[in-house]
Amino acid sequence: MAAAEVGDNVIDVDPTVRELEERAAAVLGMPAALWTPSGTMANLVALSVHLERGDRFLAPKNAHVLTNELGSAAWLAGGMPEALEHDGGPGRPKPETVAAATGPRGGPYYTLRTTLLCLENTHNAAGGAVIPPHEHAQLLSTARQAGLRVHLDGARIWHAAVALGLPPAALTVGVDSVSACFSKALGAPAGSVVAGSREFVERARRMRQMLGGGMRQIGVLAAACLIALDRVPLLAEEHDKARRLAHGLRELGWEAETPETNIVLAPVADIAVTLASLQAQGVLALPMAGKVRFVLHRDVSAADVDEALRRIKAGGHP
Ligand SMILES: *Cc1c(COP(=O)(O)O)cnc(C)c1O
Repeated sequence: MAAAEVGDNVIDVDPTVRELEERAAAVLGMPAALWTPSGTMANLVALSVHLERGDRFLAPKNAHVLTNELGSAAWLAGGMPEALEHDGGPGRPKPETVAAATGPRGGPYYTLRTTLLCLENTHNAAGGAVIPPHEHAQLLSTARQAGLRVHLDGARIWHAAVALGLPPAALTVGVDSVSACFSKALGAPAGSVVAGSREFVERARRMRQMLGGGMRQIGVLAAACLIALDRVPLLAEEHDKARRLAHGLRELGWEAETPETNIVLAPVADIAVTLASLQAQGVLALPMAGKVRFVLHRDVSAADVDEALRRIKAGGHP
């Protein structure tokens, strides 16, 4: 980061940001990509480009764009959200559910127009759940038949790709836009991209500026994101550590689900009581989707996982 070559990225002359955008676009299988300071802004930029007031968009229940972005998809991007059940598996609806939610096209002028499907791979609140490529393809073709555009919240797409042993581009086939984060277990302090066609990225650049996301010599952060990209294959270690934690928790009587990636969800009787007691033992977790959520990343070692389990056992949970 200290050695990064920088320029003014508001006028698009930061060479390190450009390198990141080009590499990220190629890895994601999209024509172009745009740096954003956060994944939340990447999603908001994409939804603002895709949606108009009076539009409705579909997203799986508990999607980040529905529950963790304070309703900005509605009050800034202008789209009425419709949450879909995870009846196709954790974190995803069935194609038929998408088709049914879309409703008939060309209703009277006073009806909402459903114009966008927003998928999330991996789905954070479903415990880092992976959408495999054949299901992605079915959801895409259903959306297309219904005339919907598709945005993929791929903040954690690197995790899905590593879990499946596929390149990330295999999971973006056919989407209009995809967002991706470099700070999810990869070690970059901040930074995301939103990718799509060149025309999409030019509109996204204007939207980013409106939201105050145009930043100047930001190559210092893009340099860290380039290192994060190199580290993607190492995510398999985070997934191993997550399984180790889930297994250990089950041995202690928790109902921890076996994770597909780096997030372990565990239902408990009283989340606040459990979180406070974990914290007193120096084990940090957060609540999500009504469960306790542990996230593994590169700075937590397998030995740290074992130490956490020892402390949890000493604390006598759940
Ligand atoms: C973390 C996350 C985001 C938002 O990224 P920030 O950089 O924290 O704003 C969006 N979507 C998903 C699925 C995420 O996990």
